[in-house]
Amino acid sequence: MFDFYLTHLYPIHMSIYGDMGNVITLKRKLKTLGYNVIIQNVNPMDELPIKTDFYFMGGGQDNDQYLIYKDLLNKKSKLIEDIENGVPALTICGGYQLLGNKFITGTGQLVEGIGIFPVETKAMDASVKSRCIGNIVVNVDIDGIQNTQMVGFENHGGQTYIVDSTKAKPIGKVVVGYGNNFHEKLEGCVYKNAIGTYCHGSVLPKNPQFTNWLITKAIQTKAIIEKREDLPKSFSLVDDSISQKTHQNLIKRWTNNH
Ligand code: GLN
Repeated sequence: MFDFYLTHLYPIHMSIYGDMGNVITLKRKLKTLGYNVIIQNVNPMDELPIKTDFYFMGGGQDNDQYLIYKDLLNKKSKLIEDIENGVPALTICGGYQLLGNKFITGTGQLVEGIGIFPVETKAMDASVKSRCIGNIVVNVDIDGIQNTQMVGFENHGGQTYIVDSTKAKPIGKVVVGYGNNFHEKLEGCVYKNAIGTYCHGSVLPKNPQFTNWLITKAIQTKAIIEKREDLPKSFSLVDDSISQKTHQNLIKRWTNNH
């Protein structure tokens, strides 16, 4: 077996609405490919591991984001270095917001981000009581997986805007639901192999093509960094049939309802 290092950022504070299912999916799929997945949990005050092949951070409530953001800022340089080198990161909702430039919470607190995604987020004023909640379907427009859709579940007050479209772009156009904000019908952000998305759910088991694209990117980057060509990368032993059926049924269900 080949070792694969999956770093899970803030699993205690940042993991809501089924986000843990993404770690389970990655571990099981990578194991089928022939990898021994080593999960490296990183909580506040923990050092970042020296070696990471894939970063994951789930979503969290405003308070949890406020609790951990200063610790994340202390980890900024290593995270940026790895992502600039092509290490994939999947960050969901609150995790996505923390990889942006800044997040203003519903009570007006400033949560500084680490600036990987050129996005800024401001929660709707708590008195407005409006959140982006519900099922979401996105027409994905990412190099390597165009002409596919992504399905998930969103629940966020934060309204996110890409502030530098020359540096990063959205995952794609929203067909059902909201995505980054109430107005633009755009979802998420892609910078190199780092993905920010509002899709909880868990997003990976519902979207096998997207999962396989992320894993392929991780293996490609790992091969370059470790200067090796023997890493297993074939999905021939992976049975995505249930995941694929779920994906198609959910898209049919949510798009037919609109
Ligand atoms: N607290 C953030 C917001 O409400 C993120 C929520 C989440 O991670 N689901 O926008």
